[in-house]
Amino acid sequence: MSGGEFYRASSVQEALDLLAKYGAKAHVLAGGTDIMVKVNRRQLAPEVLVYIGECGLNYIKDLGDKVVIGGATPFAEILRSDVVKQKLPLLAEAVKHIGTPAIRNVGTIGGNLVTASPAADSSVPLLALGASVKLASKSGERVVPLEAFFKGPGETVRKPDELLVEVIIPVPDKDVKFAYHKIGRRKAGTLSVVAGAVIFKAEGGAPRGTAIARDQACYFEKCSQARVVLNAVAPTPLVAKKASALLEGSALDAELIAKVAKTAAEETSPIDDVRASAWYRRQASEGLVKSLLERIVA
Ligand SMILES: Cc1cc2nc3c(=O)[nH]c(=O)nc-3n(C[C@H](O)[C@H](O)[C@H](O)COP(=O)(O)OP(=O)(O)OC[C@H]3O[C@@H](n4cnc5c(N)ncnc54)[C@H](O)[C@@H]3O)c2cc1C
Repeated sequence: MSGGEFYRASSVQEALDLLAKYGAKAHVLAGGTDIMVKVNRRQLAPEVLVYIGECGLNYIKDLGDKVVIGGATPFAEILRSDVVKQKLPLLAEAVKHIGTPAIRNVGTIGGNLVTASPAADSSVPLLALGASVKLASKSGERVVPLEAFFKGPGETVRKPDELLVEVIIPVPDKDVKFAYHKIGRRKAGTLSVVAGAVIFKAEGGAPRGTAIARDQACYFEKCSQARVVLNAVAPTPLVAKKASALLEGSALDAELIAKVAKTAAEETSPIDDVRASAWYRRQASEGLVKSLLERIVA
């Protein structure tokens, strides 16, 4: 980078003052694992960089029924957090599969969401858990459900003078079932070809080993609060609404599992890219959702 101005904000207020002053000329710098790649490839030449790694946005707060994570919290800290392990195991599981230890040491949750890659891996558990983001500017704050945050590849509803200050995650009930899996071209240190999560609250489960469970007549009498989420298969991370609706209020059996998986795949609109073809991604989406549901009932 040459010719630009660099500011190291020592408080959120200072960062917001700088963003208000420079508007679209300013770019936020957190871990730099996305933005500096673009700068190094000469795809971006920021006039002003505002570093937010030391402005007090690195924290994880347990507020009882929700967990609040500061926008500049690196993934490594999220992985180390006992609060996240105990209250948000789905997030803990997904974060393990983001990048490499070096990337997780600096890459932040806010940076991952604002980059708005269709393959952003933190988006999968966060959408499944019904998270929101808090955006702050000099003129105030607003809370946006994550589902309404992404607009397209690299595009969000964030305005140039806004900082993503917090991710707010409701803590799911203890009896909520979930499963997560990421398919990449390698087992580790790889971007998603497709990653997915399924979450729902189950009522009336058949005890393992009973005739009803063995016959697969019905695994759970009723599913509620259901969400099926996939990434890297649409312009934005995707909540598969039709597939989620099929689960909602329904008894879960093998037939429904197959139907939910097929419906989720039909909701995708993948593209061919260097990591996989659109055809493969759609097939993988169906297989992935099916295996997540089977893992939950196993
Ligand atoms: C080798 C490698 C492997 C990777 N593997 C993965 C992977 O497996 N999964 C995955 O999802 N991603 C992966 N990434 C992408 C990247 O590491 C993540 O998206 C990371 O979370 C970005 O966070 P950051 O703090 O580094 O963001 P930065 O690069 O600092 O910023 C990214 C963008 O967000 C803006 N921004 C950052 N924080 C804020 C904020 N709080 N408020 C407003 N704007 C903000 C910046 O201006 C910039 O536009 C990988 C990257 C590399 C280089």
